[in-house]
Amino acid sequence: MLSLMRKNFSMRLSKHLFLIDLKPSGVNQYIASYVLKSKKVAIVETGPATTIPNLFKGLQEIGVKVDEVNYVVVSHIHLDHSGGAGHLLNSLPRAKLVVHRRGAPHVADPKKLWSQSKQALGQVARLYGEPSPVSSERIIVSEDDTSFDLGEGLELRVVETVGHASHHQSFYEKKSGSIFPGDTAGIYISESSSVIPTTPPPFHLDKALASIEKLKQLKPKLVYFSHFGEANNALEKLEKYATQLRLWADIIAHKIGEKASVKEMEEEITLRDPNMKRVVNFVAKHPILNRGVILQDIRGFVEYLKYTRA
Ligand SMILES: [Zn+2]
Repeated sequence: MLSLMRKNFSMRLSKHLFLIDLKPSGVNQYIASYVLKSKKVAIVETGPATTIPNLFKGLQEIGVKVDEVNYVVVSHIHLDHSGGAGHLLNSLPRAKLVVHRRGAPHVADPKKLWSQSKQALGQVARLYGEPSPVSSERIIVSEDDTSFDLGEGLELRVVETVGHASHHQSFYEKKSGSIFPGDTAGIYISESSSVIPTTPPPFHLDKALASIEKLKQLKPKLVYFSHFGEANNALEKLEKYATQLRLWADIIAHKIGEKASVKEMEEEITLRDPNMKRVVNFVAKHPILNRGVILQDIRGFVEYLKYTRA
């Protein structure tokens, strides 16, 4: 029988899959790493630099030794997903980092990424910590469809899914019908089974919708959100998220026409998006999400609608 017992940082989700709760600043269930453990071991998402010690605690709990990790795969280079890559790779003697071609240069030399992150995220950037460089010989630059054989029929395939960022990719594990969408499918709040968009500037709506469609074509059963956790009915989740993005685009386009403020757009969205009604209190109390995440999401749409579609 599988042990589904929840430990301090880790939880076994299936025979080959574990979740590690990275708990930035002690905030539970906000950022996840996943560990696929077969003949080979792959870590999906490093999380921020500041939570690498927690990732190691999780690896210890699930019995993965540092020299057993072969691949560290990341959806994109934002600090909450791969800010810890340099620190992590320093302690994993055999692992290679798998990253999108447009992200790779910024992982090798994260100075610009760090200064832009501080500008965009303010205090939250400091909470995530400064990334350290990954030497280029340890980077595997991935393409759409690159796959990694982990043994025992397990294979992790790269699915390029731009939109949230121009350098975003997701991962698909065929045997279990699982997707790891990074930020392509929004922020999942399991207690209300609702989703908050992740659309800060520079966001590209049409590409994001095409990426969701691409994930749907895989007919996934399970979805493993980086924010946060496992969910079933993957197809339905993807469908709902696409509908939600279209609704936000309609509301915001209309409000741009009325010359409304971002704050007024937020009020209208809270009224009309059933997801947002359910999470409004959750966001208000959340120590990271409450720092203007929704307003940033709206700005992503505003910039897209004003400049990209204009
Ligand atoms: Zn994220």
